[in-house]
Amino acid sequence: MKAIRIHAPGGPDVMKLEDAPEPQPKPGEAVVKIEAAGVNFIDVYQRSGLYKLEMPLTLGLEAGGTVTAVGPGVTEVKVGDKVAYTGVPGAYAQYAAVPAARLVVLPQGVSTKQGAAIMLQGMTAHYLACSTYPLKKGDTCLVHAAAGGVGLILCQIARLRGARVIGTVSTDEKAKLAREAGAEETILYTKQDFAAETKRITGGKGVQVAYDSVGKDTWEGSLNSCAIRGMIALYGQSSGPIGMIDPQILNAKGSLFLTRPSLFHYIATREELQQRAGELFGWVREGKLKLRMEFEFPLKDAAEAHRALEGRKTTGKVLLIP
Ligand code: NDP
Repeated sequence: MKAIRIHAPGGPDVMKLEDAPEPQPKPGEAVVKIEAAGVNFIDVYQRSGLYKLEMPLTLGLEAGGTVTAVGPGVTEVKVGDKVAYTGVPGAYAQYAAVPAARLVVLPQGVSTKQGAAIMLQGMTAHYLACSTYPLKKGDTCLVHAAAGGVGLILCQIARLRGARVIGTVSTDEKAKLAREAGAEETILYTKQDFAAETKRITGGKGVQVAYDSVGKDTWEGSLNSCAIRGMIALYGQSSGPIGMIDPQILNAKGSLFLTRPSLFHYIATREELQQRAGELFGWVREGKLKLRMEFEFPLKDAAEAHRALEGRKTTGKVLLIP
């Protein structure tokens, strides 16, 4: 089979389309014929070496496809099931062997492409809005990179929970998409002081929670955007890491809470994995959650997909099609 592999960290060109042995299922595993692999910013961190991993490596942490074989002891899925998963390396490939306990079966009305959009970015938006800071009516939240993969879904879930959303984006086109996803206000954070704007929009109070995935460029502003006893959910670093911080800053800015969460701690049990995925599938089937999937690349063009994502050219989900 074909797979996108890297032998050393670096720029997009380190990704090579190579022949690899087709995986066979071990006990407890299922083999998935991948129909769509999700491209996520974490893939960029892994490829560039920001996150250190053993090489050679097949990139990709999210996919949707069809089960073609199961190993001994598998009860969760059967051959022919349409499934999706996240958190298992090796999705930039034609096939992957996946622990069956990590697979969720897709219901009628949710495609394998949609499955690949939901598992990492959708579930991240879900845990942020429903668990890290469970949004409620009356809350205002700040969503950075609001037209991105996580961002567009987070705006919609925040609205479903009755919260008011302020979204930051880099272009007018992205601002339009964020508003369509439920952001009542948008700020061009590349041109405007987003913290001052956020304070103005909230009548000087600030937001209950700032969902910050941009990191280096937004951290200071996020601190200045929060209401007293607000929370910063620092869940990414697309502009770079924020470096060392002194906890005293949280006191000075209003007894703030800071968390640096990871999806994989919010879907650690099969029960939680299925509960989050099930709720997202339900919203998609009911038309309450729209997934934007305009950026599809053939598997061989993974480097182009990474360039587009890193270059801030994409909105919503980016998929690789084997
Ligand atoms: P996105 O589709 O959101 O793409 C990243 C966006 O970040 C860009 O489109 C851009 O939007 C914005 N951005 C701001 N500054 C930069 C910069 N210097 N370089 C590149 N992009 C920049 O990606 P994902 O939805 O895949 O991921 C979003 C973030 O969420 C990432 O930081 C990722 O690591 C994080 N994440 C964290 C998880 C967790 O559990 N902790 C799980 C999943 C994702 P604009 O042009 O509008 O500024």
